[in-house]
Amino acid sequence: MSGVAAQQDIATTCPYCGVGCGVLVDRDADGDYRVRGDKSHPANYGRLCSKGTALAETIGLDGRLLHPEVDGVRVSWDSALDRVSEGFARVINEHGPEAVAFYVSGQLLTEDYYVANKLMKGFIGSANIDTNSRLCMSSAVAAHKRAFGSDTVPMEYTDLEQADLVVLVGSNLAWCHPVLNQRLLAVKKQRPSMQLVVIDPRVTPTCDGADLHLALKSGTDTYLFNGLLAWLHGQGQGDHEFLSQHTTGVEATLEVALAHASSVKLVAERCGLDEEQVQRFYHLFSRTEKVVTLFSQGINQSARGTDKGNVIINCHLYSGRIGRSGMGPFSITGQPNAMGGREVGGLANQLAAHMDIDNPDHRRWVSEFWQTDNLAPAAGLKAVELFDAVASGRVRALWIMGTNPAVSLPDGNHVRRALSRCELLVVSDCVDSNDTLNFAQVKLPAQTWGEKSGTVTNSERRISRQRAFLDAPGEAKPDWWALCQVARRLGYGGFDFEQPADIFDEHARLSAYRNDGERDFDLSGLVDLEPRDYADMQPVQWPFTTRGTVDRLFANGRFFTPDRRARLVPVEPHPPALLPDEDYPLILNTGRVRDHWHTMTRTGRSPRLSGHVKEPCISLHPDDAGRLGLVHGALGRVQSRHGEALLRVDVSSSQRPGEAFIPMHWNDEYAASAAVGRLVNPAVDPVSGQPEFKYTPVRISTYQAAWYGFLLSHRPMHIPHANYWCKVRRQNHWQYELAGDSLPADWARFARGLLCEEDSQSQWFELHDSTQANYRAARIMDGRLDAVLIVQPGLDLPPRDWLSQLFGKVALQSAERRCLLSGLPPKGQQDAGAVVCSCFGVGVNTLRQAIRENQLTSPESIGELLNAGTNCGSCIPELRRLITDEAHEAVAG
Ligand code: SF4
Repeated sequence: MSGVAAQQDIATTCPYCGVGCGVLVDRDADGDYRVRGDKSHPANYGRLCSKGTALAETIGLDGRLLHPEVDGVRVSWDSALDRVSEGFARVINEHGPEAVAFYVSGQLLTEDYYVANKLMKGFIGSANIDTNSRLCMSSAVAAHKRAFGSDTVPMEYTDLEQADLVVLVGSNLAWCHPVLNQRLLAVKKQRPSMQLVVIDPRVTPTCDGADLHLALKSGTDTYLFNGLLAWLHGQGQGDHEFLSQHTTGVEATLEVALAHASSVKLVAERCGLDEEQVQRFYHLFSRTEKVVTLFSQGINQSARGTDKGNVIINCHLYSGRIGRSGMGPFSITGQPNAMGGREVGGLANQLAAHMDIDNPDHRRWVSEFWQTDNLAPAAGLKAVELFDAVASGRVRALWIMGTNPAVSLPDGNHVRRALSRCELLVVSDCVDSNDTLNFAQVKLPAQTWGEKSGTVTNSERRISRQRAFLDAPGEAKPDWWALCQVARRLGYGGFDFEQPADIFDEHARLSAYRNDGERDFDLSGLVDLEPRDYADMQPVQWPFTTRGTVDRLFANGRFFTPDRRARLVPVEPHPPALLPDEDYPLILNTGRVRDHWHTMTRTGRSPRLSGHVKEPCISLHPDDAGRLGLVHGALGRVQSRHGEALLRVDVSSSQRPGEAFIPMHWNDEYAASAAVGRLVNPAVDPVSGQPEFKYTPVRISTYQAAWYGFLLSHRPMHIPHANYWCKVRRQNHWQYELAGDSLPADWARFARGLLCEEDSQSQWFELHDSTQANYRAARIMDGRLDAVLIVQPGLDLPPRDWLSQLFGKVALQSAERRCLLSGLPPKGQQDAGAVVCSCFGVGVNTLRQAIRENQLTSPESIGELLNAGTNCGSCIPELRRLITDEAHEAVAG
């Protein structure tokens, strides 16, 4: 691949999570790209997590969509854009602007987002543009607006470092925002008096550094924080001067809190916690001045997520812990540019530049600024409603950009039906196949990370440049360009942008338009940047006015409500939308694993990242597993009222009894039946429209297959007879985990057909029994291992990691050839085991052996010996667990 800049460091930002780490990209002597943390970027100061560290592995062109396609046929951009504009124009003419929609993404750059929103809301005249950020943090947005009158995150990452107590609620920070977790733990190491409380139903790696973990029952956060408010009130902790001068709603809010959570005993009962634990948390909060409460998807992804955000904010407002350094409520965003999407109005119920779609003044100002008389008159359809409208035919033309809703939305089977019925489905993406793209009539090749140029805003309101360092391959184009081309074809003015800098300038101007400090989002200080200034722009936090950055938000006690007072919001507790019952007795929670991102479009290409958690699992407590007869490592069929999945069973005491967890990443490209969205109920928060991903009743039963096996192969392939399969990218090959209901008539013939027997250069090793139940084969091509297939009736298959290592060898030794069909290394070689440290590729067996033989007692000592844990640090909680496990085994003898 040829690059636009060969030698110099290019400063850009990581495309994954909302921490928004700065990275530097350059090329080594062989011309290969290298990615390292940018020491000057204030989000990470040089740190990266495992995902950021492996970015260079993900920039190849395998599986890229390189040319526009219409109805499966390659066409020119002109033809494709004509089809999009004619299709949208026809639907608008025949059915009105509400019959078309855009569904966009927190992966878009702000400039793309701005143009999409301007086109839909400003000129098509519908607010039917929503974003996958609806699934991530729209409840926090709604809670901010109710409390502050604006979607303002008043916090900075340094507040976490300055706090004396950090409360993490519904956040597995160690895996989901690892660099922030590293920053936090670094401070805690220097200042052990800093207290860390984790509130999460699961024991996660984040608990590793915690002083207190409250493993509350899923969905009971409202009781806990209403209880905290009642406790603060009882302790005389109200900041009465602040409350009387800067807030409203105190009395009503206290009344509700006292009615529902008047005592620690009651709260503990409701939340399934010990009284002592609850009391300890309340004591910590009330006696610590500098408290940051960081909340994330565990709060937001709920049918009452907005309420849960407000019940947290209430405690900070009541005690005056806001507007000063080291304290406040901190909603952390999942995606790299969720915050940028909020700035431009990417959600269907926003306008642009933090203006409100239901405010007549704001609508008039935006109309004036955009010079349009067709501004959307009211809020549009939020994500779940939008796909319901596609299913019912109310929305007939849909353009999806940079997101995979067939996987990521709840009730995935319904979403797939909607996509299959859509009259005109346009998808812009960088890949040539995914669960959503496969339904599209029009496929538009989008530029991706490394190729596109623009800005993103992270969770602390810091705008950073994403810069291109690669030439765009094939005919890939920026999303803003495709949108402008369609807008012009539809006859709209105001879409003659020539470069991202032009769009950013208009975005900054709009933020300043008729803004005399009444609106929080203000980039007036970034208006009229010269192209060179935009190109060189350093990370900057908003508001950034003509006077530069403003003081800390809310430091003056003035909020963005009409009366400038913050609102405490009374929050009645409500149960989740669907409760477990006899048919569906377990509660399903969903979330991330450490090394994958969203639907694996990028991370699924990285052998390092794919090696950490190779298969999608359902984790459940040993008591539940025992009751249901489920065995660790077996396969389980998981069913909800909405769909089902087939997953590996992970029996783990990190789950609460009665609760289970499935990761969100796997999809039909990587597994036979593991897209958890198919199971998740589509209940949404009544205010924010955010779905309840954290609470779906399910049932689980053992899936008894006729055979189990695995295939390691140089080439990706489709495997018939496998009812269960899961595909994993490994170094130089693919790994397939397999199981099936029916046996092929002849395994040997099946294997040779699958693995291309006709090639005369190949050498076969085979082992099978007469019953056809056991079969093992290995194929060697030109001295290199090409494939290994092992099948048998039971689950106790040989390990895969030693065999995987052999795919990197130019020639196998004779001892290795002899051992191939056993899967066990010859004497003197070791199976490194599953990857624990992705950065240095250190496996679990290597770690266990090193801990045992060298009596290692700390992650630091492991790091000195094996490097593990010394780069991004994401694996440190697992290193600690291994040390503990080995110590227990040593004691047990
Ligand atoms: S924490 Fe990791 S995934 Fe998130 S922005 Fe930083 S390097 Fe990327």
